[in-house]
Amino acid sequence: MNQKKQFVVIGLGRFGGSVCKELIQQGNEVLAMDMDEQKVSDYSKIATHAVVADSTDEPTLMSLGIRNFDVAVVAIGDNLQASILTTLLLKEIGVNNIWVKAKNNYHQKVLEKIGADRVIHPESDMGRRIAQQLSDENVIDFIELSLDYSIVELIAVQKLDGKTLIELDIRGRYGITVLAIKSGDEINVSPEPDYQITAGELLIVIGHNKDIKRFENEAM
Ligand code: ATP
Ligand code: ATP
Ligand code: CA
Repeated sequence: MNQKKQFVVIGLGRFGGSVCKELIQQGNEVLAMDMDEQKVSDYSKIATHAVVADSTDEPTLMSLGIRNFDVAVVAIGDNLQASILTTLLLKEIGVNNIWVKAKNNYHQKVLEKIGADRVIHPESDMGRRIAQQLSDENVIDFIELSLDYSIVELIAVQKLDGKTLIELDIRGRYGITVLAIKSGDEINVSPEPDYQITAGELLIVIGHNKDIKRFENEAM
């Protein structure tokens, strides 16, 4: 069992709020911070602790012991100055893992320069993801492992019905590997080569994006 991490979430808008809720859901300890009393009151029953505080005020951060937290999430959206200053202060007081929500590319650049460990751009990241899913109807879900490699969940089309992995020679011909096959609630991890695919099942494959695309175009 991992040691529990301590999180501080600064800014309880829609993004920060949902980060906070999910961290709690996953069993973590979370300090929720906002300078808006109403927001803090809303989260006082959800978070482990909730405080009304201005995160751009260094003495406040010190007195709250923020330096002892493992991870800080800065989810201040519209006030770039507050977001940047908060990140800088967290960095200075020594919080070692700082994730920050960026509003635009300029904001993102500045955050990276001052040492944010991860910059998130929810609107554009999610937009890209949705567009990728919309443009390829076979892809149910995917994880980008790097720029070139992904794990992709593909829906088996009629053309694959009754075919085995050997017949399709997926690894040989396309260089991609079927990690698992889902049918309904059941999941078959590391399917045998003679496994017979049924249309509608989900194939979870890993490989180079180009090879996965080629498999989709030629075999499906
Ligand atoms: P959403 O995730 O809903 O899109 P947003 O990105 O539009 O939110 P804002 O609403 O601008 O973000 O800010 C999120 C929260 O951050 C607000 O509740 C605001 O009160 C809080 N906030 C802004 N500046 C500070 C600060 N200096 N200290 C603490 N909280 C702050
Ligand atoms: P973001 O994804 O950046 O958070 P948002 O959810 O805050 O965006 P808005 O900025 O309110 O959304 O609107 C997005 C875009 O939709 C804007 O460019 C706006 O001009 C456009 N838009 C809003 N209403 C209409 C409309 N009735 N017809 C056409 N375009 C519209
Ligand atoms: Ca917003």
